[in-house]
Amino acid sequence: SVFVITIDGPSGSGKGTLAGKLARHYGYHFLDSGALYRLLGLAAYQADLLQEPLNLPALEHLAASLDIQFIVQDNQGTQILLNGQDVTDQIRTEEVGSMASKVAVIPSLREALFKRQRDFARAPGLVADGRDMGTVVFPDAPAKIYLTASAEARAGRRVKQLQDMGVDAKIDAILADLQTRDKRDMERTVAPLKPAHDALVIDSSVLTIDQVLKTLIDYIDS
Ligand code: C5P
Repeated sequence: SVFVITIDGPSGSGKGTLAGKLARHYGYHFLDSGALYRLLGLAAYQADLLQEPLNLPALEHLAASLDIQFIVQDNQGTQILLNGQDVTDQIRTEEVGSMASKVAVIPSLREALFKRQRDFARAPGLVADGRDMGTVVFPDAPAKIYLTASAEARAGRRVKQLQDMGVDAKIDAILADLQTRDKRDMERTVAPLKPAHDALVIDSSVLTIDQVLKTLIDYIDS
């Protein structure tokens, strides 16, 4: 059987980093569902399909035929290809995050990504990172985590992450972007961002990654 651990929460809560660490700790597969939405958002933008009014049939066709590859590398994480092109760094930008959250409000597009996400659940197990992993995609997962942090703490981490990538980032702009995206994610009617009823909720604002990791491993092993 396949053991599934879900980690949901807003951007900048540290869930991506922690999900990666948990996957390595347990030797499980890793699903970065946000990357799927980012890829769909970017593909829609490239095909000029994000202009209002939205052409829903064209977007649905795009979602169903999305040509993507996740190439797991030994040390440097995962290389991500869209139509054979390396978009690993490009999909991490704020612009693409915003494109992702636009396509993510459309129910039929979420539906189109549903099976691709479920396909990641292979033996021995999966760590699934996203917004609705515990509530919608893997509702029967035995271990569910909801990781959050204050908007200020999350914006601060994001700025540091961008600076490490050599991108000059302003905290005010990042905080505003993040709040816009959170609002869209929490207030949408389909799969809104919220903790599953049976999730362990952790606020990481004043905790280090290692402190959170230890708490999560204790919870999963209990
Ligand atoms: O996690 P990440 O910031 O990469 O996600 C980008 C966007 O994709 C989110 O803001 C959200 O709108 C959408 N998303 C989603 N459901 C998921 C993962 C991401 O709606 N499971």
